[in-house]
Amino acid sequence: MAEKRDYYEVLGVSKTASADEIKSAYRKLAMKWHPDRNPDNPEAKTKFQEASEAYEVLSNPEKRQRYDQFGHQGVNFGPGGFDFGRDFSHFQDVDLGDILGAFFGGGGGGFGDFFGGGHRHRADPNGPQPGDDMTMELEIDFDEAVFGSERTLNLTLPDQCPDCNGTGAARGSARKTCPTCGGHGQVISGGGFFQVRQTCPRCGGAGTVVEKPCPTCRGAGQVKKPRQLTLRIPKGIDSGARLRLSGKGGGGLRGGPPGDLYVVLRVRPSEIFEREDNDLYVNVPVSPVTAALGGSVDIPTPDGIANVKIAAGTPNGKMLRLRGKGVADLRGGSPGDLVARIVFEVPQRLTGKQRSALEDLEKSLDPSNFPEAQTFAARLKTFYAHKDKLSK
Ligand SMILES: [Zn+2]
Ligand SMILES: [Zn+2]
Repeated sequence: MAEKRDYYEVLGVSKTASADEIKSAYRKLAMKWHPDRNPDNPEAKTKFQEASEAYEVLSNPEKRQRYDQFGHQGVNFGPGGFDFGRDFSHFQDVDLGDILGAFFGGGGGGFGDFFGGGHRHRADPNGPQPGDDMTMELEIDFDEAVFGSERTLNLTLPDQCPDCNGTGAARGSARKTCPTCGGHGQVISGGGFFQVRQTCPRCGGAGTVVEKPCPTCRGAGQVKKPRQLTLRIPKGIDSGARLRLSGKGGGGLRGGPPGDLYVVLRVRPSEIFEREDNDLYVNVPVSPVTAALGGSVDIPTPDGIANVKIAAGTPNGKMLRLRGKGVADLRGGSPGDLVARIVFEVPQRLTGKQRSALEDLEKSLDPSNFPEAQTFAARLKTFYAHKDKLSK
C-alpha cells in the first residue's frame, strides 16, 4: 500500500500557507477532480477525496496543529491510509453546480456547507469532548490468523494534555470570544466575484480561542503519549477484519471519554496453504508411480499430518477433501475443509537401472493403458476429417 501523502503536498502548498492559500489550492483541485466533471476517470474520485481529506484537516486550525505535531496519526487517519470509520461521502453529496454557483456569485448554502463542515457536530468548546477513534493496520502471519495469537502494540497516540487538562489554555488563562468571527464560528470570506460563508479559520468553528496557549501542548489540548496495549487475535480471523479496542483510541478533551482504537488486520500469505474463507487448499507433490499403484500420501493440515490412502490409477490434479480440517470458524460455527490437490512430480536424476526399468515399462504399455489419450486421439481424428471436408 502506498504511503499516505503529506497533506501540504496533496494541496501543493507550503507548511506555512495561510488559510486563504489553502482554501484556494483546495478549490482548484476540487474543481479539477470533482467526480461529476470526470465521470470516466476513476482516478478523479481518489484525487478528489484525497484533496478533501487534506482540506478538512488543514482548514481547521486545531486539526492542522495536531497534524503538524503528530502527522497523520494525530488526525485520525491510520498509518496505512486506512480508515473505515470515516465517511467522506458527504463531500460527494455536494454537486458541481453548488461549487460553480458559489464561484459565480451564488454564494449558496451548498458551498457554505461544503466548506463549513455543517455535518460536524458543534461541541461546546468549554465542555468535555470525546476523543477521536483511531485506526491502524497490522500485518500478522498466516499461522497467527489460523491459531490465534497475542500481540503487544507499542503506540504513540494523542492524549489529553496533563498540564491544561485538555483546554489548550495556559494556567490561569481562560478561553475568550474569537476576535475573528465574534463568536459566531463562521466568517464570510471571498469578496470580488464570489462570497462564501465558511468555518472560522481562527477558532475552527468553536467561537472561542484560548487567551494564552498552554506551553506544553502549544494550545492543542493534546500531547503525544506512548502506550503499550495487548491485542488478542482470535483464531479464524482473516485479512481485512477489524478489531476494536474500546476506549483505547485518542484521549478525550476536558474530561471527555477516549475514542476507540480499530486495528485492521492484513494476513501474510502462507507458503503452504491457500485460504478461501475457512477452507484451505494445499498442493501435495506425489510420485506418478505411487498414483499408478495406489498407496498412501501425507497431507498437511493445520493440526498435523494426515495420512490418506489413494486408489490405484489416481489421476493428476485429483482433489481430496478432508472435512472440518480447515480453519476454525471465528463465530464458533463449523470449521472449514482442507482440500488437497494431487500434483504429480516426475522423477528426476534417474540412475541407469531406474532408466532401464522405465524403458521396459514403456515397451510394455499399450493404448488401452491410456483411456484419456484414446478419447483424445478419436476427437482429433474427427476434427481434422471435418477440416478437410470444409477446405475442399
Ligand atoms: Zn472564530
Ligand atoms: Zn496543554
